[in-house]
Amino acid sequence: MAEQQCACPKCDCSVDDQSIEKDGQKFCSEACAIAHTDGSTGCGHNCSCGKPA
Ligand SMILES: [Zn+2]
Ligand SMILES: [Zn+2]
Ligand SMILES: [Zn+2]
Repeated sequence: MAEQQCACPKCDCSVDDQSIEKDGQKFCSEACAIAHTDGSTGCGHNCSCGKPA
């Protein structure tokens, strides 16, 4: 099985069957799944994928 990556543009976290799926894409966390619209700067996996550029 190929390793999959979170669909969040800046997130490099891997996703699996337990991950959140939205619009056919897999996300590593709820924060990524909602595109960090909650203002979160990370996904809880020690990365700052939600930080504005
Ligand atoms: Zn991440
Ligand atoms: Zn993510
Ligand atoms: Zn993210």
